[in-house]
Amino acid sequence: MICRLAYNDAAASPSSRPPRRMLLLYARRLGPPRRRTHFEPQRHHRHMQDGTLTIQDGKIIDPATGRNEVANLYVVDGKISSVPPPEGAPVISAEGLVVAPGLIDMHVHFREPGQTHKETIATGSQAAAAGGFTSVVCMPNTSPPTDDPRGVAWILDRARQTACINVFTTGAITRNLGGDEMAPIGSMAQAGIVAITDDGHCVQNHELMRRAVEYARMFDLAVLDHCQDYYLVGNGVVHEGHWSTILGLPGWPRAGEELMVMRNILLAELCGTRIHCQHLSSAGSVRLLRNARGRGVAITGELCPHHIALTDKTISSFDANYKMNPPLRAQEDIDALIEGVAEGTITILASDHAPHATFEKEVEFDQAPFGILGLETELAIFLSILLHREKAISLDQLIAMYTVNPAHLLRLRKGTLRPGADADITLIDPNLEWVYEKEKSLSRSRNTPFDGKQFKGRAVRTIVAGKTVWELGTEG
Ligand SMILES: [Zn+2]
Repeated sequence: MICRLAYNDAAASPSSRPPRRMLLLYARRLGPPRRRTHFEPQRHHRHMQDGTLTIQDGKIIDPATGRNEVANLYVVDGKISSVPPPEGAPVISAEGLVVAPGLIDMHVHFREPGQTHKETIATGSQAAAAGGFTSVVCMPNTSPPTDDPRGVAWILDRARQTACINVFTTGAITRNLGGDEMAPIGSMAQAGIVAITDDGHCVQNHELMRRAVEYARMFDLAVLDHCQDYYLVGNGVVHEGHWSTILGLPGWPRAGEELMVMRNILLAELCGTRIHCQHLSSAGSVRLLRNARGRGVAITGELCPHHIALTDKTISSFDANYKMNPPLRAQEDIDALIEGVAEGTITILASDHAPHATFEKEVEFDQAPFGILGLETELAIFLSILLHREKAISLDQLIAMYTVNPAHLLRLRKGTLRPGADADITLIDPNLEWVYEKEKSLSRSRNTPFDGKQFKGRAVRTIVAGKTVWELGTEG
């Protein structure tokens, strides 16, 4: 069945486009995608204490239900419960802590299969747990790319065997992330993807992108886009501006992102379905998004911590740990991004966790790969900047951007502490001052510009299906 559908999907290439009626027939034959919680790791509940406990006297913040109160949270057999567990069940004191739904990072690169010297699903998951994340969404630029149902099944199976948290995956929009032939989106939906994206790449052919968006709509999948116009950006490696000129590095202009944000707004409007712009970096993108969302267009945007923590001035060090795609930009962009978060134009926070081996980053700046680690520092950076320094949003809003908002976009049955929900819980100390040391990272890589930096606030305990998978002070 899956093979035949994969063949049918393949027929939806630009050269032989099936009529829309046929596509709808395929969609009907496939039926609705399987419930995505189906792919959660198997938990062992042989002992009651594995998934049954009381979290006592914490400040429960659950933006999905509007709950914000100091109370006990009950967990019975891996689920949130409205009634206390039986006597004798473990009790965790959360006095002075925030009890949040398990955080979701919907933008990570775990490098497995293919580049396990950088990260594996196991090590990436451990780093995620140490950052307070109970669920992550993997990008498809693995090696080979995740562009067919076999690849999707392999990743989900590997995650079930090796991950300590919930690992979801996206599928590619185009075969081999090549931008010219649609991937078998329908059969990847059947295999369990939660969205499609060519992240790291960007589909330049607007007609192909339109059909991918229409195809995704039939399976109620979101389309995530790394917004980059290849012609405008060319071989740009840093923000086009003062520092690119001074340092003689090829520039990556803001318009290279904004053009594709505009394209996505037009397609979301045309197709009447949701498109999500990943890792926004420019003030102009915020302006475009604000206008479109004001008109009710189903477009969303995402912010990564480095894009508000650092400006392009940092590249004067020629340290490739300041090399990202899209690049670090100017202070005015940072101001606009923070304003975009404060006013609700940008609704999702994510890391773009992109591990690379040290030997790969220690080369000439323009030769080094793009990206940095993110999972263990992102919550701390956003708490430090958005909550404490800028006072741009409340803690409730910040938690919403990591829980109910991504869960809603991707249709994940996660991101809430409602009774009956999976007991994925993050305990946060929003005021804890601490220093990040990259040598203690649980990731397999060390490419971060934040080594030795002081932050205010972090996760202190991460619970998946009622079981503690990471706790501050107990890591090796
Ligand atoms: Zn990207």
